[in-house]
Amino acid sequence: MAPKRKPKKKKKTSHKRLFFIIVILILIYILFNKTNKENDSVSTIALAKEIFNNIDTTSYASIDRYIVYGTHLNIEGSIQINENNTIQNVEVIAKNINGQELPIDTEYTYEDDILSFSTLKEINTGLNLETLQTTNYYMLLKLQFPNNETKYYSLKNDTEYGNIEYYTLTRNNANQKININFNTFENIPFLGLNITKVNELPQNVYDVVIDPGHGGNDTGAISGRYEEAEIVLDCAKELKKQLEEIGLKVLITRDGTESPEEYNTYNIYDEEGRVTLANESHAKILISLHLNSNESDSVDGGVEVYVAPNCDLTLAKKLADNIVKTANTEYSEMESYKEENGVYVRTIDVGKSRNILTSRNYNGIFDLIPYLFIIRETGGIATGAYVDGTDSDYSENIYRNSNVGVESYLIELGYINVNKDLNNILRKQNLYMQAITNSIKTFYEIN
Ligand SMILES: [Zn+2]
Repeated sequence: MAPKRKPKKKKKTSHKRLFFIIVILILIYILFNKTNKENDSVSTIALAKEIFNNIDTTSYASIDRYIVYGTHLNIEGSIQINENNTIQNVEVIAKNINGQELPIDTEYTYEDDILSFSTLKEINTGLNLETLQTTNYYMLLKLQFPNNETKYYSLKNDTEYGNIEYYTLTRNNANQKININFNTFENIPFLGLNITKVNELPQNVYDVVIDPGHGGNDTGAISGRYEEAEIVLDCAKELKKQLEEIGLKVLITRDGTESPEEYNTYNIYDEEGRVTLANESHAKILISLHLNSNESDSVDGGVEVYVAPNCDLTLAKKLADNIVKTANTEYSEMESYKEENGVYVRTIDVGKSRNILTSRNYNGIFDLIPYLFIIRETGGIATGAYVDGTDSDYSENIYRNSNVGVESYLIELGYINVNKDLNNILRKQNLYMQAITNSIKTFYEIN
């Protein structure tokens, strides 16, 4: 009995001991975590203090305009500076809590004590939201004077626009969520970027939108039995497949199931219209696929990539170059609107349209408004979207006043009435799409 009882007792003690050890481990874990969190929040505040202690709180820069177009954030504003000094350099910067400064290319003028600044030289350059670390950033105006003195000013929101929630493109099945927030720290107004990792995009957020041109009772260009709307739909489905294979979340604006009677060029702004779908997708890039046609045969085929004015053309050029190389086709010979080989910027003649635009209280940034509606109307105020329903043929683009826009590229893959183009596209559409996929993959550094 005794030997039996002894081990039993021992066993009980060891259970008790084990229980205590577990409790202690849990307590240590909780305590450690709590201390860690406290340290985190203490250091965040300390670093915020360090950043805000260094800034001149006697005045703030006022933001008149801020825009997220594609993958970039840009701001424009002014500040009153009563300095007898000459200002040597002006830069908008994003400073993170580790003290790292990201300078953003800034243009400025300084007249009658008013310093006006803008990072909006090109609407798709500026602060690249895709390259930020998972931490907090503060947007500041940095002024440098000849005596090596540097002053920082915080930014106050004087626009009609509020905070923005931005999701980066999907890379390795992960995204970053960027809260672009206007806030105050001890009564100092500031613009901050809070960046966290997320494992999945919200249901209504996409990386890329593909827009197969035309559809329904709008066939687009025709050559014999071939219709533009059908060919570009096939291409779009192939492109969607390829982009999904590199991990991107893709929305297509039509899939061929649209009713021919109901779907036409005039309902592009309706609830299910391509402009509304694109704007609601929160996508960063839109690729619109088309085939050209030229009745007079004055152009001997080739690729044309259309992009908004005031854009950096790197991606447009990459798209055109890759298509020419991969699909063994040619750059279009068309000279009108040409910026580079295969890259085109076509704008509305504002002079002629000024009365219409004025009657619609048009308040665009640039006098250069994209001619192609899919590029213009998906960019919000960055591209001067202006369709407000005044024209009874079209419904209203409810996103025309948005300060968040999709960076849109319209690609004329070739000419449907030029046989070598049509044959090439019918035979090698997967190579045309491969060229587009590779351009996006390398330009945005996906995977
Ligand atoms: Zn077309």
